[in-house]
Amino acid sequence: MTTDEKKLNDEKWMVYALTLATRAWDMNEVPVGAVLVVDDEIVGEGWNRSITDCDPTAHAEIVAIRHAAHQQQNYRLSGGTLYVTLEPCAMCVGAMVHGRINRLVFAAPETKNGAVFSRMSLLEQHTFNHNIDVTGGVLADHAGSLLSAFFKQKRLSKKTHSFQPATVEMHLELKGDEAKKA
Ligand SMILES: [Zn+2]
Repeated sequence: MTTDEKKLNDEKWMVYALTLATRAWDMNEVPVGAVLVVDDEIVGEGWNRSITDCDPTAHAEIVAIRHAAHQQQNYRLSGGTLYVTLEPCAMCVGAMVHGRINRLVFAAPETKNGAVFSRMSLLEQHTFNHNIDVTGGVLADHAGSLLSAFFKQKRLSKKTHSFQPATVEMHLELKGDEAKKA
């Protein structure tokens, strides 16, 4: 795969992860989505559902990793690339190491809890017995806009219930079609 092809492929899967993030929004959860891909096939997917499940570990990444491990009937997910719309926290980085995921691709930085480069650089410290390749910033603007729109809606919904995130959803669908064509 050429560099351009790899970039397009990363964007294709990130668009998919962004559609999963909107599923979290539908459940009134912070919109973060994750998809685990092996040999360009989905093996697991998830979105943030901590509030819904009363589970502080139910971040999109953990849900996708659990889904994949059950599907594969294997607690190791070697060869997997995890696409997630937000920089992972320390818990999720730890789960990726335990799952032996090969590569992490994320979109927007998480300035409060990000454990890849924002607050900590867990994967650069060679403290783990497993290395994960990292690509950050893929469709970061889209993921950031989705999060901003969600929190804006939260603020507005205190005053009115009429706000609908139609602009963001239409934009994501358009990007999805573009990615399919590519
Ligand atoms: Zn997390």
